[in-house]
Amino acid sequence: MLNGNSLGGLSEFLAVLCILCGLWRLAAVSTSSHGIRLVCLGLLLAIFGSLLYRFGANVAASPLLNVDTYLAGIALMAGAAAAWLRSKRAQGGSLAQRMALFNGLGAAGILAIAALELFTHAARGSQLLATLSAALLAAIALSGALVASAKLQEGAHRAWYLSGRPALISASLLAAIALGAHIAHAALTGDATRIPYSGLLGLFAAAGGICGLLITLPIRVADLPVAVSVGNAMTGAAVALLGWVFNMPVLMIVGMVVVGAAANLAQSAAKALGRSIGDALFWDIPAIASEQRSTDAGNAAIFMRYARKVVIVPGYGLAAAQAHHKLGEVVKLLLAAGVDVKVAVHPSAGRIPGQMDRLLADAGIAGQFIIQLADAADSFSGADIALVIGANDVVNPATSTIKSLPVFGMPTLAAGMARTLYVIKRGQGAGYSGIANPVFQGENCRMIYGDAQSVLANMIEAMKRGELAQAA
Ligand code: NAP
Repeated sequence: MLNGNSLGGLSEFLAVLCILCGLWRLAAVSTSSHGIRLVCLGLLLAIFGSLLYRFGANVAASPLLNVDTYLAGIALMAGAAAAWLRSKRAQGGSLAQRMALFNGLGAAGILAIAALELFTHAARGSQLLATLSAALLAAIALSGALVASAKLQEGAHRAWYLSGRPALISASLLAAIALGAHIAHAALTGDATRIPYSGLLGLFAAAGGICGLLITLPIRVADLPVAVSVGNAMTGAAVALLGWVFNMPVLMIVGMVVVGAAANLAQSAAKALGRSIGDALFWDIPAIASEQRSTDAGNAAIFMRYARKVVIVPGYGLAAAQAHHKLGEVVKLLLAAGVDVKVAVHPSAGRIPGQMDRLLADAGIAGQFIIQLADAADSFSGADIALVIGANDVVNPATSTIKSLPVFGMPTLAAGMARTLYVIKRGQGAGYSGIANPVFQGENCRMIYGDAQSVLANMIEAMKRGELAQAA
């Protein structure tokens, strides 16, 4: 017979199971949608299990804080509605920004819970230390996430340079630790300090927030996915610490899973840039000027239609424009016209590892037409045309020639080796790393300016017109 306690334990156990299985299924493109649904179910079960105590059902999960059921219900519904509305408007290109925002929300929640816990003076000894550590991690992650999200907003790609940054970061961290020690002393001794307890907590959170600002403000947009993932790992660690304080295994497990996944993602993102996490967070980038020639979509489409071999390179702009289905159509039309078509995928293309593979799978482009970076070396020299769609850094040879670049050493796709290179971009914007691409100034290169989706639509129209004219 199930009582409240075992029901709470069971729902938390199932929550952990769903989340772990969901993350496992997220590893492959074909099962990722199912994985997301499983993780969502796990989160719902975790919320349900945590709320049971409110009705006296799950005493084991009883937290130290009081919860107003109606307010909690309103907050849950408002949060769900906001997330639902936002997901309707979300675009593939804003994934990293959404990751940063959601991480900021999680960190804000942790900070609020830790602050309430500290206000109640309930935690003692190592629990108090864990609560303070969680609050500090959350404060750093929160300010970092807000800055990262603002910088990832289109048009806000700006880095702030601070001299003596390491010293400032160390000073803010030391100030936070000193304030934390003061709070612990006040909490344990009940000793009235010259600063009121709430003031101490505010200063402690502010010192952590300033530390996050100092770390994130100078980071270039190219390196933000690394910073966002590191922030994610910090939030995960804070969740796990609070799970231990509140004796909630579900929080401990999920927190540690987040730490592992985010650390892995930070590692992959840094590797995609060809350097370490530390370098990605602390290194600046010089810029190169460029001069480019253009052509129109219809013209390029006709040349592609009559080419022998075409290699296509998708990049972030394809995801931002949600133009993958149009790309699928272009590939189909070229194949039908007897063109040897390949799509070369760089592991760093886009903003999230595996993003291009997912988009190409969604667009119905079969694996036999896709070549990965390692196998793409010879493809371009034998190609009549390379079509670069919203990619920049992944076809930038400067990464192997300019040693001062932070992406120095990142292998790129040699699209410039094709006889003719077409590049679809909206304008002369630099790549994610902030470096201009010298290949776009090459004799063989023609830019096709415009949003990737509308340019590809024009290409499809031109190819279909060409077919009709030929049939007539
Ligand atoms: P990129 O270097 O960021 O270049 C994308 C280009 O797309 C921009 O130059 C932009 O130029 C254009 N663009 C943007 N929106 C567009 C639209 N709607 N239509 C057409 N063009 C559009 O992208 P990438 O070549 O894919 O390289 C990815 C970068 O992200 C690399 O630096 C990589 O290291 C970094 N990164 C990737 C990952 C990952 O896991 N994939 C992780 C961390 C970092 P305009 O503004 O002129 O249009």
